[in-house]
This record gives sequence, structure tokens and C-alpha cells, in this order.
Amino acid sequence: MCKTLNIQTALELASTIESDSPQLDAAVLLAHILKVDATYLRTWPDKELSSEQVERYQRALQDRREGKPVAHITGTRGFWSLDLNVNASTLIPRPDTETLVEAVLESFDDAPRSVLDLGTGTGAIALALASERSNWTILATDYSHEALELARSNAKANGLMHVQFAQGSWFEALKSDQRFDLIVSNPPYISDADTHLDEGDVRFEPRSALVAEDEGLADLRHIADEARHRLNAGAKLFMEHGYDQGSQLRAMLVDLGYQGVGSGVDYGGNERFTYGEWSNE
Ligand code: GLN
Repeated sequence: MCKTLNIQTALELASTIESDSPQLDAAVLLAHILKVDATYLRTWPDKELSSEQVERYQRALQDRREGKPVAHITGTRGFWSLDLNVNASTLIPRPDTETLVEAVLESFDDAPRSVLDLGTGTGAIALALASERSNWTILATDYSHEALELARSNAKANGLMHVQFAQGSWFEALKSDQRFDLIVSNPPYISDADTHLDEGDVRFEPRSALVAEDEGLADLRHIADEARHRLNAGAKLFMEHGYDQGSQLRAMLVDLGYQGVGSGVDYGGNERFTYGEWSNE
């Protein structure tokens, strides 16, 4: 028999979780199981959980104690204004990637554009852009069939049916003559020597979405190089990267002939993405 719990005593079990954010983790798990929001949890501390809810909550806490990411336990993660389904086939969307989305939206007016999102994962960037620009033609690619299936389900769940999908590694997913006004990507950019790979949520995410050769720069370089043949004149490239890769990325884009090169910072104030404009034919 499970012991009875109300919302308050359930939330107090946060103390049994070891993570960077035990209170938040417990609240997200409980809200998910009760199908309510954070305001409800604060408003009704005395509300009793059913025995089935107690059981599910205890199981969720146990998964979290074992390190399983909250997004994998709930199967969902908020990104931009969207609720995205998440599974172990892709990276879990990070809030910091929203800063790239914001910068893209700021640097374009709302005229029709053709857009490519390389390595879309859950679809986060492509779908966030689609939710803001209904007249943009957006193609999202991924190497992983499972990831594309997930991204497609997210497009459907969020009513963003104008996003197209194609399978393939980076530019291999494209037709030979396809060009774009904007290319965005959040590729793998962590060095395989990075000790953070043994800590926290990344242990549960696919290595192929996290780690790149050449100290994390190999895929960023490949994308920046090939994008030159895929960008219309005056088109832009935006790539997310590691907190300490900004100056290398700017130098890389300048070397490759991009103009107007610059970087933007994430919510933590770290350089998180770099952009450039392609003006040569
Ligand atoms: N930002 C993620 C992290 O540092 C990695 C994302 C990526 O490799 N694209 O955990």
C-alpha cells in the first residue's frame, strides 16, 4: 500500500532527488502526472493524490533518482511556445536554443523565405520558426529515421503542417538544385574528451547528436563549408555551438568568405550561436 500524499507532501519529496533543480523536477513530474500546471500546484497544496497517482509519482521520482532526464520521464519538453514530444532518439531541446530562434526572427522581416533546418531532432528550431512565420517554406532534415518520425509527430501535434521533412546526413537529404534564404542548425559540437558527457541528462541523449570530431568542430565546419553552395545570394547561416567556440566559429565563417559575421549569447550570457551572410554567387 502506498502512503497517502497531498500536493504539498508530494512536493516535499523533492528532497529525495539529487539534481541541479530538485524542486523544479518534482513540480514538473507531479504536474505532468496530475495533468495540471504549476499554478494549480501552488493553489491547492492540500489536494490529495489518488493511489494510482501516488504510485506513478513514486515511480517517476525513482527514475529521476536514477538520473533519467525529466523530459524522458514525462515524454515532453516545452520549447518556444510549443510542447514537443521527446524520446531517446534525439537531443532534448534546450532553452538556450530559443535565443537562436529569436535572433533569426529579428534578422528577417515576415516576407516569404525558404528555410533549411539541418539535424532537426525533435523539430524544435524548424517548428518554432514555423509557428511564427506561416508563409515560410521550411524543410527540416535528420539522419535518424526515428528522429524524423518524432519531428513529424511534433509538427502534427502543434498544427504546423507546412514544415517538410527529409532524411539524410546534412546536405545529403537535399535535391541537387535546392537553395535557401536561411540555413539553421544545432549540430553536435561537443568534444569526445569533454567530461560533461558523463554527467546529467547528456548521458541519456544520443552521442551522435552531441559529439563531433575535431574538438567538436567537424560538423560545424562541414555545414558552414557546404552551405555556401546552398544559400541564395544575400542568404544567412545561423549555427548553434559550444559556449567557448564563438571566436573559432567567427574566424571559420570569415575564412570561408561569409560577411556580416557575428555571434549571439544564450540566457547564461555565453556565446551560443554564430551567423554570417553569403553574398557571393
Ligand atoms: N547544448 C548541449 C549541451 O551542452 C549540446 C547540444 C549540441 O551538441 N548540439 O549539453
